[in-house]
Amino acid sequence: MKILVLNAGSSSCKYKLYDMADQSVLCSGLVERIGDPQTGNLTHKIAPDTDKEEKIAREKVFPDHAVAIREVIDLITDPQKGVIKDIKEIAVIGHRVLHGGFYQTEPALVDSKTKDTIRKAFPLGPLHNPANLTGIEVAEKLFPGVPNVAVFDTAFGMKMPKEAYTYALPQDLCEELQIRRYGFHGTSHTYLTHRGAAFVGKKLEDFNCITLHLGNGSSLGCVKNGRCFDTSMGLTPLEGLIMGTRCGSIDPAIVPYLIQQKGMSPEEVDTLMNKKSGLLGLCGKTDLRDIHKMAKEGDESAKLAESMLIRSIKKMLGAFFFLLEGKVDALIFSAGIGENDDLIRARVVEGLEGLGICLDSKKNATRSGEERAISTDDSKIKILIIPTNEELQIALTAQEVLAKSKK
Ligand code: ADP
Repeated sequence: MKILVLNAGSSSCKYKLYDMADQSVLCSGLVERIGDPQTGNLTHKIAPDTDKEEKIAREKVFPDHAVAIREVIDLITDPQKGVIKDIKEIAVIGHRVLHGGFYQTEPALVDSKTKDTIRKAFPLGPLHNPANLTGIEVAEKLFPGVPNVAVFDTAFGMKMPKEAYTYALPQDLCEELQIRRYGFHGTSHTYLTHRGAAFVGKKLEDFNCITLHLGNGSSLGCVKNGRCFDTSMGLTPLEGLIMGTRCGSIDPAIVPYLIQQKGMSPEEVDTLMNKKSGLLGLCGKTDLRDIHKMAKEGDESAKLAESMLIRSIKKMLGAFFFLLEGKVDALIFSAGIGENDDLIRARVVEGLEGLGICLDSKKNATRSGEERAISTDDSKIKILIIPTNEELQIALTAQEVLAKSKK
């Protein structure tokens, strides 16, 4: 079965075509600067990440998503370089959709109701949801007869118990404005949970873990019996950990204080907290490779940024460990920092041996792109590195939704 995964952004579109027989990627690509009157770019890769990888680059104007996706179809079905003969070979298209709003708890086969749900959540995901819907509508036109599945990034967090997702604000207001903890990176946390359970050989419903998705945007997932029990991001991705450019959790009273003292508009405060804060606000850099280098050279702001980041992760880890009453099968590190940064991993779990969390420093320092354990063999709680794969999870979910719809 062939499954196409589409992630349509406001001016870009990423895609991957899977052969689900062995979960191999037949081709992948990215179209950038859609809607730009100047030229846009399309980078298409055949058999990516294999020794047969072949790259095709195109530069032309892509006035809208339809033109961009039409070009992608031409490449995928090209008589010489194409990986399929006909788009009818595609069994289903899985779409990444950021926000499902208050009521959408599951991925869904696209029909008018699903599209309405995505539309209703525009105010909650103003940058992503309109583009995600455009991607779906274009796919409906350009792939006639191929079903579409919307995979919501919020679906993982919708499984949280009420006491985890409710904010202590007047409840009529929360109801009216759909204010709750949604959590993000849901597709990644779902993937990590499934892979983690398989890695330790446990059934999903018996598996407890804490997933650490640490990238430019970062969040922790608390998973009990295979389902989300809590998560660090909230109504928006701003809450929780210190991130590349986001401040994470701060005293909410700082917001009115800034408005009063500096005469800032709500939009300016929003930009300040989302784009100018976090590691960037602390030391002027967002990439930890740069920050480690600066810290090594003695830069105090970089040292502070490192310590604060580690502290913010460790505090959240501690909270989730207690929520799970210490019954944790695995800590799972993932994404840019989680997969690559041995220093951050080591310092996050430092001193936790008494809780059964024992890092093997040698394994931690060994670089690899594989799923692996970096805890000692006798560590009660496994420490794993699992490279996240949100596209594959979307493909798997789309496959599952399609199978259910045929029953
Ligand atoms: P995004 O949230 O944009 O998907 P990624 O998951 O790709 O981000 O993570 C990007 C971040 O990962 C970078 O800003 C950097 O801090 C970190 N990172 C990437 N590679 C390395 C590395 N080799 N060593 C340390 N940190 C890394």
